[in-house]
Formats: sequence, C-alpha cells, structure tokens
Amino acid sequence: MIPYGRQWLDDEDIQAVAEVMRSDFITTGPKADKFEQEVAEYTGANYAVAVSNGTAALHLACLAAGIQPGDEVITTAMTFAASANCVLYCGGRPVFADIDPITYNIDPKDLRRKITSRTKAVIPVHFTGQPCRMDEIHQLAEEYGLTVIEDGAHALGAAYKGKKIGGLSQMTTFSFHPVKPITTGEGGMVVTNDERLYRRLKLLRSHGITREEDLMEKNEGGWYYEQLELGYNYRMTDIQAALGSSQLKKLDRFIAKRREIADTYSRAFAAEPDMILPSVIPEAESGWHLYVIQAAKRDRKEVYDALRKAGLNINVHYIPVYHHPYYRNHGYADVFCPNAEQLYQRMVSLPIFPALKEEEQEYVIDVVKKAVRGTEG
Ligand SMILES: *Cc1c(COP(=O)(O)O)cnc(C)c1O
Repeated sequence: MIPYGRQWLDDEDIQAVAEVMRSDFITTGPKADKFEQEVAEYTGANYAVAVSNGTAALHLACLAAGIQPGDEVITTAMTFAASANCVLYCGGRPVFADIDPITYNIDPKDLRRKITSRTKAVIPVHFTGQPCRMDEIHQLAEEYGLTVIEDGAHALGAAYKGKKIGGLSQMTTFSFHPVKPITTGEGGMVVTNDERLYRRLKLLRSHGITREEDLMEKNEGGWYYEQLELGYNYRMTDIQAALGSSQLKKLDRFIAKRREIADTYSRAFAAEPDMILPSVIPEAESGWHLYVIQAAKRDRKEVYDALRKAGLNINVHYIPVYHHPYYRNHGYADVFCPNAEQLYQRMVSLPIFPALKEEEQEYVIDVVKKAVRGTEG
C-alpha cells in the first residue's frame, strides 16, 4: 500500500536521537532550546516554544490569547478537529467560516460575516500547505481587534509574499506528527514575535510554574519556585527536539521534492476533463503537505474505493468539523458551509511525501486517471 503521507528518516536522524539517549538530558533541555532557536530563525519569528504536539500548541496559543468562556473564535470548516477543539478546551466557542472554493482556505468574506461582538480571535489554517490570504485576514483582525493564531500544521516552510509562515501573526502553531513537513514522532511548536506571549506560553507549557526571579512574588531560596497560573505539562523531550533539528536541515529539500511531485501530478492530470486540481495563489508558495483532487463527475466514494483497491492508502482531508457527532450534539447541528460541503463531497488526497518514488508516482497517476474516469475495470 502507498500511503498519502509518511516520514523521511535517515541515519543522521537516528544518530541525533542516539546521541541524546547517551547524554544527561532526555527530557526538555539544551536540544529543545536549540530546536526552538532554529525554528524561530527559519520562520523569521522572534520566539519559539516547543511542545508535545500540534494540538497542545493550539491549546497554549488560545490560552495565551486569553480565550475564555463567552469568547468566540472563528476557524475554517475544512480542517482537522484540533483547530477548533483548542477553543473548546478554553471554554470558548469555535465558529466555522466557509472556504474559498478555489484555494480551499478560509474565505475572508465569510470570515467577516461571522464576526460578532464576542469574537476574540481567528485561527486561519494553511490547508494543504497553501498560505491563506493573510493580508485580508490581518486587515479584518485589525479592524475588529482580533488575535490571529495561524494553524501552520501543514505549512512549515511555506511562504506568503516571500515571507515564511511563522513570523506574520501574533502566533503560529506547527505540528511534527510523522505526516507533517518534518517530524519529531509527536511534537509541536508555537512561534511568536511578542515577548509577553512568549513568556506566557513558556509558563503554561510547564504547569504555570516559574523559577524566574522577576515573575515570582518572593524567593525563599535555591529550591524555590512558584505556580502562577494553571498550566499543563506540554513539554517536548530532548529526544524529540534532536530529531527535529536534524529534520529541519532537510526541510527545504523535502518541500522541493513535494513541489516536484505536485508538478508531476498537475502536468499528468491537466487534460483530464473530470478532475479539478489544486490551484496556487500567486502570492503564496505552498508547502504541498497535501495534493487534493476533486472528482467532478464520478461519485467520490467510488473513486476512493477504487484507489484503495489499487493499493493507495489514501484519505479524505477533511470531514467538515461540524459534521462530527460531538459538534452536532453541542449546538452545531444547523451549521452548513456550502463550499466546504461541496469540496468534501468530491475530494480525495493523493500520496505526496518526499520518499515517494518516480515509479510510484507513475502508478498513482495511472490508477487515479482510471478511477476518476470510471475505467478501472
Ligand atoms: C495535524 C494537525 C493538527 C494537530 O497536530 P498534532 O501534532 O497531531 O496534535 C492541527 N491542525 C491541523 C490542521 C493538522 O493537520
């Protein structure tokens, strides 16, 4: 079976992890600091906080943004549930905006329609690795005083108007799950340019506990620390961070490889009348986390089943979040975003990852053409 995504790990990565295993620190230590500095530098953000996964990164970002009961946070319907769950963790209410049918990213016009007096923040998701129209989102955020938390789980290494995703908004979160642009097994990061947010993120990552003199009410001695807020244990281990640093060195190569595969697919499918291919907005460089096609005529389930039968372990990204029973049972039964619905009815994600071989790409192209045409036999 060819999966839709998977990690690339080499001897250098294994060596980096083995080195940590022989050292004094296996939980958060010098390797985590180093990985944070490297991601901050790479993305152009001033600060980075490494955490245990991308969901923890979103949760901390919402907490640092001060999301609390009564607050609304707008995100896209076409995302993984974690982009909305993080708001619920804080007692806030996620509100779903529809997507732009061309980019599949949150539609700034629908975003504007969903803003109320309770809206505190917006979580745009750079779906498939293609950056959202950030200028329009920032303009709205400024107009209504909203915090922008970018969910960059798909988009480490992607760029908007020549700038890497990560330094553009108050906070941006990343995930290092194995299917994401780089991996640490499980892992995540929040990057920010704001020192105040950075300090809150660090505090909340580790129980709300500090040993920093200037934050404590008093200091009773060398052993002393204070818990100032109700935080969590969302720390990343040095084992993960060493893997992250090793992976980060290869990120640009990974993305170049993904772009090559996307170009190969787009050329191969260009003449297929019943296929809708991903389009890239000129001001963005996609990280090509996913290559989503739409079957315009044939039933998506038939296409999906045919591709599974042909040995492609593909997936559908995503079921609109409000479809899930949890959401339907918690006040979202009447939510309906027509563009997200239409995309969901037609979409499948093809295999795209740096280790995907040329023969495999040829095979994918062949079976996808047949499945979309309905000639798989
Ligand atoms: C993967 C993903 C997350 C969650 O990341 P984890 O590291 O798996 O917790 C959040 N948002 C999006 C869009 C994702 O794809």
